[in-house]
Amino acid sequence: MKLFETMADHGHEQVVFFNHVETGLNAIVAIHNTLLGPALGGLRMWPYASEDDAITDVLRLSRGMTYKAAVSGLNLGGGKAVLIGDPEEDKSEALFRALGRFVGSLGGRYITAEDVGTTVEDMEYIFQETDRVVGVHPVHGGSGDPSPFTAFGTVQGIKACLNKRYGSSDISGITFAVQGAGSVGGNVIKMLTKEGAKVFTCDINEDRVAQAVDEHGAEPVPLDEIFDVDAKVFVPCALGSVINTNTLSRLKCDIVAGSANNQLESEQSGTDLEERGILYAPDYAINAGGLINVAIELQGYNRERAYRAVSAIYNNIERIFQIAARDQISTWQAADRLAEERIRTISTLRMPYSKQFKDRLSGRTPKLSHH
Ligand code: NAD
Repeated sequence: MKLFETMADHGHEQVVFFNHVETGLNAIVAIHNTLLGPALGGLRMWPYASEDDAITDVLRLSRGMTYKAAVSGLNLGGGKAVLIGDPEEDKSEALFRALGRFVGSLGGRYITAEDVGTTVEDMEYIFQETDRVVGVHPVHGGSGDPSPFTAFGTVQGIKACLNKRYGSSDISGITFAVQGAGSVGGNVIKMLTKEGAKVFTCDINEDRVAQAVDEHGAEPVPLDEIFDVDAKVFVPCALGSVINTNTLSRLKCDIVAGSANNQLESEQSGTDLEERGILYAPDYAINAGGLINVAIELQGYNRERAYRAVSAIYNNIERIFQIAARDQISTWQAADRLAEERIRTISTLRMPYSKQFKDRLSGRTPKLSHH
């Protein structure tokens, strides 16, 4: 892999490789962009088949975090860490404490968190070595399980879509098809039905479906039929790539708005959705509730403030629709544009306040020869 070329192509600032023989730690931290603030992004533990696979993943994921933070109005940049290993077999206290030391050595440029293959317990070990970690247990001032916040944010995004499409954000009487009744999907179903929605759902885990049916009055549908349900809103809360060439022609909905990551199989799928007259809430903007919630930990966690911050997802989705209309582009493109515009404009604000800039204006450029 031509690493510098790849970094330059995608705008990465820094990639750090950490090795600690005693604990078997092989980790990579990618810092994509810090113009808005320190890079925040989870730590993924995965038995990557090759180092190239690990590098490709960390570069892709860290860049995604820059866009997610920027579009969500956070003063954070994008970063991510990958730990090469099997989360079932290779974990130890020393491994995560070693990682914590390394994260601490980055001087605050990168803040880590839970991700695929890591847990709150792993974050606790990291927390013993550095405070540059969020998503720790509430007893340490952490915010706990992010799923209810992601679900709350998703419902705010759904309301913005309903308002755009029907001129009212009222959920009652609207029919939804929720794919996946897990941590986020289950909470979304709970909130939607509480506001009087009719919800169809499916999940490969039958207990999850049973819970949604028994506790929230959802109606079960077979796994593959979720795409054919006659619902106004399709809510993907399970897998990625669910909007693809096979499913596009089956969707009867007016809106796609859910928490799943990477919902579009390709950019073309996003454009195709639009051409079919289906309004799409870009995934990384509507599912940012978990990120917004953990970001509050950096200011001293407060649950009420977190919910208030997450409710801004309604406005973020609205803003994306405005940009799509302004520039005559798809909503997935508008989300990227909103993120890029915000990074560009906000990063210039600091310039007049920097001492160096002021010194230059007044002709008092610091002279190194004084030392
Ligand atoms: P989860 O594992 O708790 O729930 C996912 C559910 O989907 C599970 O119950 C699983 O059985 C089900 N599922 C898997 N394959 C399926 C299929 N083919 N058809 C129907 N159901 C299927 O995960 P989660 O935390 O609820 O996350 C859901 C989605 O939201 C994921 O794509 C995740 O990346 C994304 N997301 C989650 C958060 C968060 O805070 N948890 C934040 C941002 C994005």
